[in-house]
Amino acid sequence: MLSKSNFLMYLDCPRHLWAYAHGKIDKRKIDEYIRHLSDQGYEVEKEGVNYINDIIKKRDNLSDKQIAFQVNVTDDQFQARVDSLVFNPFTSKYDIYEIKSSTKVEKNHIYDIAFQWLILEKEYELGNAYVLYLKKDYILQENLDLSQLFSISDVTNDVLNILDYVKQARSEAIDVMNNQTLDLCQTCYKPKDCICIDLCHPKLPEYSIYDLNRITPKKIDLLLENNILDFTEIPNNFKLTDIQKNQLEVAKLGHEIIDLPKLKDELSNIEFPLYFIDYETYNPAIPYLHGYKAYDQIPFQWSLHILTEQGGLSHFEFIETLVADPAPFFIEKLQKLISNQGSLMVWNKSFEASRNKRISEIYPEYSSFCEEMNSRMFDLMDIFKKQIYDHPQFKGSYSIKNVLPVLSPDLSYKSLKIQHGAAAMVGWKDMVFGNISESEKEIIRKNLLEYCKQDTFAMVRIYQELVKLIHNI
Ligand code: SF4
Repeated sequence: MLSKSNFLMYLDCPRHLWAYAHGKIDKRKIDEYIRHLSDQGYEVEKEGVNYINDIIKKRDNLSDKQIAFQVNVTDDQFQARVDSLVFNPFTSKYDIYEIKSSTKVEKNHIYDIAFQWLILEKEYELGNAYVLYLKKDYILQENLDLSQLFSISDVTNDVLNILDYVKQARSEAIDVMNNQTLDLCQTCYKPKDCICIDLCHPKLPEYSIYDLNRITPKKIDLLLENNILDFTEIPNNFKLTDIQKNQLEVAKLGHEIIDLPKLKDELSNIEFPLYFIDYETYNPAIPYLHGYKAYDQIPFQWSLHILTEQGGLSHFEFIETLVADPAPFFIEKLQKLISNQGSLMVWNKSFEASRNKRISEIYPEYSSFCEEMNSRMFDLMDIFKKQIYDHPQFKGSYSIKNVLPVLSPDLSYKSLKIQHGAAAMVGWKDMVFGNISESEKEIIRKNLLEYCKQDTFAMVRIYQELVKLIHNI
């Protein structure tokens, strides 16, 4: 049997379906973040059901029997679960409603409904197909207003237009699933994120052509045509952008390249005391706090290391453990610690700056402090992004997790229970909303504090290593 989700997997990449059917999916790639997305999907589905019951049912004066949810349908080799099938009293046909957690209709939604349509049309007289998705600009007031939370789009024509294609593709998907062996390797342009990369690239070098900064499909094809997969085998005369050329040069040299005058110049823009700061956030699909929209990032935690010109280092932290909106305390506590002088040192400025901007929109009383913070931000990541300091071990990535082991090898994320932002988000959600004991919550709280502290301390260490370099000029 080919299910709807298997069919979508096939459309994503036929080999994913084969890998799934033959137990070859790399389960390590199904991480906390994917689980978080699936939880969000359930939340949206719950509200979508309420929308259909409260709004559509009342609008069309329908009885319970005229609406069905989670309808399982099968047709020989195919099976699907339909979010909702609603009788339309004006056409005397059934309409399909698909509830999605996105903020727009996506191409996959149309394929998804077309797959269902082909099965359903054998049993029901179908009318229209709709996608119910979240409105981007709905702001939660006192209570959730379902009529404002969702947008609804009629996608009937889009679905009807692809029925023949889907009929053909679903048969091909069955063939792929039933094949005992795999066809020749296919080429995709983002194998690093693949859930079964070993099927296509059992010997993908640790540093491959796919690591080249902003590599285009055309360049990938050209390199593969010449059997080049290892990053350092990219020929020197291969057409590259300046950033790509530098990345290749560093990789071939095998050691770092540092533009010391530029580094000195960049660091001269910094003013003491230095406030090394990092935020953690949670972005629920369904807003639950007054003033927030779907997927708004709720800032729940920060870590702050303050470094004085004399070298004194102090640490402060904040974490919200209750369901209430953390933003006011979050900002007030920072306001008490950040004076009107000094640079705010961040890694990837756009993240913290956008959070500050959003907080000032929701709480205008903090807007001048938030704007002030943004105007004093110094993005430490820029030193690496601009390749003022480049090292082969960065492999074209400017993540702090790649830079830290080079500049400060004794400091590592490896021993931490939480090692990245997505895990922090899921951990915080479990701590605040999860049905777990107080001692379990306390363990998560400590792990979150440890993780965020590491992020700001890592910045301090990276900064201090950079300063040592310019002092040696
Ligand atoms: S590496 Fe690319 S082509 Fe191969 S299975 Fe993964 S996504 Fe598909």
